Amino acid sequence: MTAYVLPPPPVNSLAVSGSGERFPVRRILCVGRNYEAHAREMGKDPTREKPFFFMKPADTIIDDGATMPYPPLTANLHYEIELVLAIGKDGANIPEDRALEHVWGYAVGLDMTRRDLQTEAKDHGRPWEWGKAFDHSAPIAPLHSVAKVGHIAKGRIWLAVNGKVKQDQDVADLIWSVPEIISICSKSVELKAGDIIMTGTPSGVGAVVKGDRITGGVAGLGEIAITIG
Ligand code: MN
Repeated sequence: MTAYVLPPPPVNSLAVSGSGERFPVRRILCVGRNYEAHAREMGKDPTREKPFFFMKPADTIIDDGATMPYPPLTANLHYEIELVLAIGKDGANIPEDRALEHVWGYAVGLDMTRRDLQTEAKDHGRPWEWGKAFDHSAPIAPLHSVAKVGHIAKGRIWLAVNGKVKQDQDVADLIWSVPEIISICSKSVELKAGDIIMTGTPSGVGAVVKGDRITGGVAGLGEIAITIG
């Protein structure tokens, strides 16, 4: 057995709906601009240009029901409701028609974003990490296994702040579908069991402040609720 000079960090994980077991998370891959109306609201032309990816560390995950501390260095913390998928089987160069075989399950998640830092990074041609990959930036509700709920290709995706609906679209509106995302991503990096992918947010993103209550959902996957603290 390997000996370590420090205690190894804990395994980051997601709750699994209806189970006492958790899904161990290796890393979080995120798709940028994957709904037309959101690409437009971010000032971009929603053509089917190749999708692009960024990452969050696995330790940014917080569970449903948590209070997310308002993060440092920002005055413009944004919510982004997203369909999240969890990879259960390793694969590189996965063909589109085999892609769904690699999905273990789906969840509702939030790609919380320090929009001011992201915008500054974009303006200067710098990486997005400080806008996207900060502590507690990935609230994710319990995973639902494909064995129980099947695959998610359509259905309402929505988010509300203090009960007022801000994002309301359909997962069928994804520019790049779940199989396409998995296939394209796996040509760049080998996907491993434990990877999760956040598939992009619909239009209607906006800021939250301390004390706000964010709720959201995807049809068939239940809901998420967090408080900004
Ligand atoms: Mn996003």
